[in-house]
Amino acid sequence: MAKIAINIATGTLEQKEVIVGIDLGTTNSLVAIIHPETKQPIALKDIDQTTLVPSLLHFGAHGEMHVGNEAKLYLKTDSSNTIYSVKRLLGKNYNDLKNTQKLSYKIIDNETDSLVKIQVGDLFFSPIELSSFILKELKHRAEHVLKMNVSKCVITVPAFFNDAQRQATRDAGKLAGLEVLRIINEPTAASLAYGIGTKSDETKNVAVYDLGGGTFDVSILKITDGIFDVVSTHGDTYLGGDDFDNEIVQHFTQQLGLTNDEFQSNANLISILRLEAESAKKHLSSNDVYESTVMDKRVSITQSEFENAIQSLVDKTIDSCATALKESELTTEEIDVVVMVGGSTRVPYVKKRVSAFFKKQVNDSVNPDEVVALGAAIQADILAGNNKEVLLLDITPLSLGIETMGGLMDVLIPRNSKIPSRAGRQYTTQKDGQSSMRIAVYQGERDLVSDNRKLAEFNLTGIPGMPAGLPKVDIQFLINADGILKVKATELRSGVEQIIEVKPQYGLTDEEVENMLMASITNAKEDIQLRSLIEATTEGQTQIEFTQNFLSKHKQYITEEELLATENAILEIKKAIDAKDKNAIMAANESLNTISSPYAERVMDIAIAEAMKGKKV
Ligand code: ADP
Ligand code: MG
Repeated sequence: MAKIAINIATGTLEQKEVIVGIDLGTTNSLVAIIHPETKQPIALKDIDQTTLVPSLLHFGAHGEMHVGNEAKLYLKTDSSNTIYSVKRLLGKNYNDLKNTQKLSYKIIDNETDSLVKIQVGDLFFSPIELSSFILKELKHRAEHVLKMNVSKCVITVPAFFNDAQRQATRDAGKLAGLEVLRIINEPTAASLAYGIGTKSDETKNVAVYDLGGGTFDVSILKITDGIFDVVSTHGDTYLGGDDFDNEIVQHFTQQLGLTNDEFQSNANLISILRLEAESAKKHLSSNDVYESTVMDKRVSITQSEFENAIQSLVDKTIDSCATALKESELTTEEIDVVVMVGGSTRVPYVKKRVSAFFKKQVNDSVNPDEVVALGAAIQADILAGNNKEVLLLDITPLSLGIETMGGLMDVLIPRNSKIPSRAGRQYTTQKDGQSSMRIAVYQGERDLVSDNRKLAEFNLTGIPGMPAGLPKVDIQFLINADGILKVKATELRSGVEQIIEVKPQYGLTDEEVENMLMASITNAKEDIQLRSLIEATTEGQTQIEFTQNFLSKHKQYITEEELLATENAILEIKKAIDAKDKNAIMAANESLNTISSPYAERVMDIAIAEAMKGKKV
């Protein structure tokens, strides 16, 4: 796909098409390509001479928007209009955010299950839109450096991202005018960047420890003959360098003698202390003490105070390493390489602990800020057809299943299954003549679906009336190479089928979907009424069909009187359906049922008797 020519006279690159690799980070984002001459991945620097674009947005009073380093300037002076850590909100609803840290900008919280919105002045944004602004900036940066149009990319996500978050990332790319060819896991990208497993006869077990600004994950990869196999992954989407900063902020708050209320009520102070804390942390990566002044007062922190403050956070990451290792059924001795990813792995204490756990020197030769983007560029190159030797296998980070009776979670694809993956199971109806079956798709590890995350819900309708337990509803889950889930439900006796691609509740978030969301809330009452009308109608139609079918087969056993009553009842249902009167439809359905049950039973008895007779002969 990528056609690259080098203009020898000018030394500039002339590429007809390029696929870029993007690390859309919580804290920093960046874009990388494979250099056409050296064939090595490089992160792109623009005129600002930095490869990292802070994942920050600032909205000015006149609707102007600043992105990245420009926005960083406003973090101190205008924090309530400066948005950070958007990635933490991506694909989340309000309930997901219950235990989140305090953010200095406004998240609209009405304690519902709907998606988060961020309010900036009179403007409302979804995390998808905000992420798309960052991606657009990266696209412009790449276009400016490469002097060509950039429209295709690979974007990385933490291994712990669920389907909703992956889809949200994809949608953000789309909104930014980018075709997202693949979403890949960050640890997979990181190991690619280390060139591990690129030799075809190599077998290696690799642990990738990624501690960024907002997320932590550790993945165990098994690489055999150029095949990357993520055998287990564990982590915490709410753990990162931001939490280290918070610990230092608390330390400084105490030093300044501020009460919690004084601190919480001052948004700008929160931001000032956050920036101060980050400087302290970075300074401590190569020094023993940090000293500064805040509000004309001296603040300081020593290396050992810092280590004490973050110890329990680092403990958590080590616990995750133990869990991932256990699930991989490997021992520390069997891990050949430990790869360090993410800016926070620059903290010496982190390296020390990880190295002690795996009982070996950690691998940190590639810039931990850039390693993921570099790997994404390598993946992009593979997709462009330039590198056919490497094949990628990913795994599902969380279990996928459906709701069954009593609100229980029935897992079809367990966590840590390889992607692409397929699984199926058969279900049946609970009620006689049940014409539709609700299929609710959940993701998570708990036994009750109410504790898990709902991804989608749909009704398989038009199941012909049958006694309970007779229909066979086959449900198939298919996760494609991008980690997007397709759910297919088929009633095997009738062939009634429905396929949905599981898109999280927000679907493709452009403005239209935003409006749809609002509309679904304001029209909830009407929607519910309409839905029950449709359900009653479907049931009525199914019942009519079933009854007429029954009559045509068993007319000889039914009296004139019964036939007349049945025809009248059917007419009543049809009239009620035409009148769109839900209650009337339901009443008519009921009276048809009352009329038909006695002769239906009688016919069944006759049928059974005849069958018995047949047997005796
Ligand atoms: P993300 O993947 O979440 O965007 P990054 O990998 O860019 O995050 O890491 C960002 C985190 O790394 C921030 O919390 C930042 O403060 C931290 N960080 C960057 N440089 C250093 C350093 N020298 N010492 C300690 N932490 C650092
Ligand atoms: Mg990262």
